Amino acid sequence: MAAVGNVLIVGGGTAGSALAVLLARGGVTVDIVEIAREPVGSGSGITLQGNALRVLRDLGVWDRVSASGYGFDTLGLRAPDGSLIAEIPDARTGGPDLPATLGMNRPELAAILADAVRDAGARTRYATTVSALADHGSSVTAHLSDGTSSEYDLVVGADGVRSAVRGMLGIDTAPKPTGMGIWRIHTRRPKDVERTDLIYGGPCFIAGYCPTGPSTMYAYLVENARPRESIEDADKPSHMRALAEGYGGAWDEIRAGITDPDRINYTWFESLLVDRPWNRGRVVLIGDAAHACPPTLAQGAAQCLEDASVLAELLLAADHLDGPVSDQPVSGQPVFEAFMDRRFERAKAVVEASVQLGEWQLDPSPDADVPGLMGRIAALVTERP
Ligand SMILES: Cc1cc2nc3c(=O)[nH]c(=O)nc-3n(C[C@H](O)[C@H](O)[C@H](O)COP(=O)(O)OP(=O)(O)OC[C@H]3O[C@@H](n4cnc5c(N)ncnc54)[C@H](O)[C@@H]3O)c2cc1C
Repeated sequence: MAAVGNVLIVGGGTAGSALAVLLARGGVTVDIVEIAREPVGSGSGITLQGNALRVLRDLGVWDRVSASGYGFDTLGLRAPDGSLIAEIPDARTGGPDLPATLGMNRPELAAILADAVRDAGARTRYATTVSALADHGSSVTAHLSDGTSSEYDLVVGADGVRSAVRGMLGIDTAPKPTGMGIWRIHTRRPKDVERTDLIYGGPCFIAGYCPTGPSTMYAYLVENARPRESIEDADKPSHMRALAEGYGGAWDEIRAGITDPDRINYTWFESLLVDRPWNRGRVVLIGDAAHACPPTLAQGAAQCLEDASVLAELLLAADHLDGPVSDQPVSGQPVFEAFMDRRFERAKAVVEASVQLGEWQLDPSPDADVPGLMGRIAALVTERP
């Protein structure tokens, strides 16, 4: 028997979908309410590290993910003119039988996860959200935007960095801008782009790209954050092209393709860390709702997937929420305490390292040890959480 019989998940993104699949497959009745009208996958491509791929494999979607994405095992460092400075083997953080990194189109990842949710037997209500939660101690009443109310053993806030559920819990931690902004474009893959190559320097802090399929990739430019409201959609190509002027090599072809404002996304880097615990009673936060990082290590989705994996494991292993989960390092711990022991310090380390890497670019320091910090995080996330 599991610690819960039915669960409401608010938000059907990466974290919510992964949790839904694992719980539904374990026999728990799962409802998702998703505020969008369909699976959300906007914002260009995504770089998935091995520890994210490990969870996707546990979800049973690895075959589809590997068929639609583009895996690789090295990272290139280039000069602004495009010449290669170094080729660095990337850590296979998901284990030796998974690539170090895989690039994917976000809409394809969202569609694969939505199919997995449906196949596992969880129900998603799109264009719906939660309007109020009442925790009675032994259950939670969720009042939904469609006018219905239902009782659940557990409610999970997986509703992203601007989580409404977080606010309903009275947690006032909010995302903080880091001072950087990123331009991303989803575009054609030049033939010789077969992995991520990063350029530190030139007009931007970082110019990079990541292949996402046989003929696609996304490319990005990271600079000082500009006022978002000052950017008109129609002007996005000219802003991004002007920055791309400073780069050669594959960027010559990328720059020529920067024409369609609809393919360009501009956003700020933000960070967020909710202090432990991430639950109040029978309502718990996972994913970006609890911790979010700028993508300097491309660990955001991996950390969301790890939350889902660990929480599902604990809920399925316990008889009730107050524990005990017998096979945990501290035997007999209640579920949420065990969840925090396995997730909090690890997510915190990733958020802090991701922010630190950005700070070293904004405010260069002679003590900056970029390879050392990246190596420590790679070693940390290679261990199962
Ligand atoms: C610029 C940028 C680049 C990034 N690049 C990478 C990368 O390369 N690799 C990587 O691993 N990570 C990356 N990330 C981080 C990654 O995208 C996130 O960590 C991850 O998507 C978070 O997943 P989530 O499920 O917690 O939240 P989300 O993906 O935000 O999903 C939340 C879901 O909840 C829904 N929702 C929101 N509010 C409500 C509500 N009130 N009611 C119901 N539903 C609601 C949303 O519609 C959405 O579907 C990047 C982030 C940024 C900002």
